[in-house]
Amino acid sequence: MKILVGIKRVVDPNVAIHVKSDGSGVETTNIKMTMNPFCEIAVEEALRIREAGNAKEIIVVSAGPKNSQETLRSALAMGADRAIHIPVEETRLEPLAVAKLLQAVTTREQPDLVLLGKQTIDDDYNQTGQMLASLLGWSLGTFASKIKVGDEMLTVTREIDGGMETLRLTRPVVVTSDLRLNEPRYVTLPNIMKAKRKTIESLSAEELGVDIAPRLEILAVEPPAGRKAGVIVGSVAELVDKLKNEAKVI
Ligand code: AMP
Repeated sequence: MKILVGIKRVVDPNVAIHVKSDGSGVETTNIKMTMNPFCEIAVEEALRIREAGNAKEIIVVSAGPKNSQETLRSALAMGADRAIHIPVEETRLEPLAVAKLLQAVTTREQPDLVLLGKQTIDDDYNQTGQMLASLLGWSLGTFASKIKVGDEMLTVTREIDGGMETLRLTRPVVVTSDLRLNEPRYVTLPNIMKAKRKTIESLSAEELGVDIAPRLEILAVEPPAGRKAGVIVGSVAELVDKLKNEAKVI
C-alpha cells in the first residue's frame, strides 16, 4: 500500500491564543507552532501500518506558508518517506481548497489510503476528509479509533454516540483519525538530523490546477468573554442566599 498523509501546521495547543487587535483572526506571528495533534496521530498510524508490513511508502503533504516545511520535516523525522509542500501564502485556506489540493496530489501519487486528522485544532472545521472522499468518490471512515488492514479493504472502528461502530471499507479509502487511535512517538535526534537531509518537493496550487480563492468571509473573530473573579463565602447560609438572589439558580 501507498499512504498519503495530510498535515497542517497550527498554533501549539499549549500556547495562550490572542485574537488580533483588528478582529481579523488569531495572532500567529512569533507564536510557537506545531503539527496539528490529529495529523500527528495520522502520521503515527501510517508508520505503524508500514511497520506491520502493510505499506511500502508514506508521503506527507502540507499546504501552507513556507514554514509548513518545518512541520513536514517533523513528519519525515517521525519516519515518513517523502514530503510535498504546497506553498500557499494565503493564511486562510478553506477545507474545500485543501480537499481539492489533496485530490490533485492523490491523482498524481495514486495512494491506496489517505490518512487525515479528524479536524484541525485552529479552525475546528472537521470537513476536509469528508470533502476529499466525496471529490474522489472513495470510501470514507471518519473518527477512526482503530484501523485494521485487510487484503482489499480496511476495517475501521469509530466512536459514535452510545458505542463503537466497525466498518469494512473497500480501498482506496480516506480515513480521519480520532484521539484514541494511537499515541505518537517522540522523534529521536538522529532521525531529526536524517530528516534535514531529505528533500521536500514543492508543488504549487497552479501546477495542481486548483483555485484556492476563499469562498467564505470571516466577519469577526472575538475572544471568549472573560470570567468574573470568584468569591469565597463565609457560610452555607451566605452561599444559599447568593444562589437565590444573585445567581438566581434556586
Ligand atoms: P479540517 O477539516 O480543517 O478540520 O482538517 C482536517 C484534516 O485535514 C487535518 O487534520 C489534516 O489532516 C487535513 N488538512 C487540513 N488543512 C490542511 C493543510 N493546509 N495541508 C494539509 N492537510 C490539511
